Amino acid sequence: MALPSKRIAKLMTHDQPATLDHPAGRRAGRFKPKGRQVDPAALAEVRTLLAEHPRQPDWLLEHLHRLHDRFGYLSAAHLAALAHEMGLSQAAVWEVASFYHHFTLVKAGETPPNPLVVRVCDSLSCALRGSAKLLQDLQQALGSDVRVITAPCMGACHQAPVAAKGLEVIPQADVVSVQDVLDGALPNAYLDGVARFDAYRAADGYRTLQALRQGDLEADAVLAELDKAALRGLGGAGFPTGRKWGLVRQQPGPRYLAVNADEGEPGTFKDRHYLSTDPHRMLEGMLIAAHVVGVSRAYIYLRDEYPELHRLLAEELAAVRFAGLADHVEIELRRGAGAYICGEESSMIESIEGKRGLPRQRPPYVAEVGLFGRPTLVNNVETLWWVRDIVEQGADWFNDQGQPGHPGPRSYSVSGQVNRPGVVLAPAGVTVSTLIERCGGMRPGHTFKAFLPGGASGGILPASLADVPLDFGGRLQELGCFVGSHAVVVLSDQDDMGEAARNLMRFFMHESCGQCTPCRSGTEKALRLMGAARWDAALLQDLCAVMADASICGLGQAAPNPVLSVLKYFPNEAGGEARA
Ligand code: SF4
Repeated sequence: MALPSKRIAKLMTHDQPATLDHPAGRRAGRFKPKGRQVDPAALAEVRTLLAEHPRQPDWLLEHLHRLHDRFGYLSAAHLAALAHEMGLSQAAVWEVASFYHHFTLVKAGETPPNPLVVRVCDSLSCALRGSAKLLQDLQQALGSDVRVITAPCMGACHQAPVAAKGLEVIPQADVVSVQDVLDGALPNAYLDGVARFDAYRAADGYRTLQALRQGDLEADAVLAELDKAALRGLGGAGFPTGRKWGLVRQQPGPRYLAVNADEGEPGTFKDRHYLSTDPHRMLEGMLIAAHVVGVSRAYIYLRDEYPELHRLLAEELAAVRFAGLADHVEIELRRGAGAYICGEESSMIESIEGKRGLPRQRPPYVAEVGLFGRPTLVNNVETLWWVRDIVEQGADWFNDQGQPGHPGPRSYSVSGQVNRPGVVLAPAGVTVSTLIERCGGMRPGHTFKAFLPGGASGGILPASLADVPLDFGGRLQELGCFVGSHAVVVLSDQDDMGEAARNLMRFFMHESCGQCTPCRSGTEKALRLMGAARWDAALLQDLCAVMADASICGLGQAAPNPVLSVLKYFPNEAGGEARA
């Protein structure tokens, strides 16, 4: 039925809502706009903070950080104003802000929380060193003046138990040291001895990059050397680096590069080590990669738990640019926001694009369709760190540092019940026995009982399998485990394997992005089942099979590993809190 023309005219008067830019709307006084309105004062604050920074959508996470750093939380008014300023829907901004653990959201009418926060790591390496007691002691000692909360791994497992004032790590924390940091007495010691730009250059740094850029060294020669070297993706995937560079190079331009500096696997801290001691070696590797692969823009995605490295990299990148060494590529330094899943390459790409870090379905692979739909080379920090030396000293130099069947050196992050936890540079395929020896043996009063060969996801093995070579594939894979990012956590006779597996499952539940049911519900259900005095082995195995087979990404697929390991190797400890 056709509407009468008068009715049509009446409806049309309502199609111009009141907005901030048109506050009166077309018919002032007759229109009540729907939804959250933009507060002019909040908008002014947002505009001041964003200043000249771009408003394009991929800057959303950076701008959320700006607001959070300034106010200590994200208010509904600021989020609405940010959405308006960036031309995004409020829903889009809320879904991103609420996805990342490091953002505290405050709804309209809510009281903002105390901005002074002490975070206590509750992941496995810290739990083994008494983080539960530390949390309790700090809550008692600091009272309501400070918000004391738990947080997942902060990438400082060799200094367990770890706390942080905000995001600034307090190693080997106790009530006294935390109180000292709150009083401003203890400086962060991570960057002592770091090689800055001038020192790196004085030691002949960037000469390989210069040779490439001046035409004294051919890109094909670099690629050939990398192909010959046994360098693999050291973030955990282990894909041959030379082959990856070649694949991306074959794709049509423009091509991009994303440096994955978001190491978040509990037990892993090697990238922190390399960036806080010799960052330019990684930066030179990145610039060499950009030249050889022909990328026009590179992103460094750094985990938010490393604020001192963010400051360092910002300064060092400025020095590199000033010296004219990065004229061939635009470089952007981006902050993660506390989501473990963003260490997965496709979620990292989503996050760099300013979205929630939801892993993508593959194919297509990021080498073909990555950042902003363009072919993208994704490399881990340590992988790039080795590039310069491989080009200068040759693939044989690199490969010969391994052992038969396991070429090349590897950086193992060793933590747990050893005397001197830390990063151990050892031949690929080294055994856990050797690593324990290199770390000064077991702590007094502790007998070696079990170990995680590859962080939270890689499974748990008993001491009787201490002779297994720690490398990609091989015997470790036959045992249903993997070496991943080479994070080795050592457990002793004083540790409960059921509790260790529960700690890991709790972590996976917390970090699941929630995109697929087998992982989102599976981790939660598994944790519930693992609380029983005796685990229902058949039910857990069934659940684990569904999770491993049907989850979209590695998180859900690997989350069952610790459970299955305990059922297989420590059946007497396959029980929950009620068992004790
Ligand atoms: Fe997200 Fe887990 Fe599914 Fe991965 S497996 S996509 S983390 S829900």
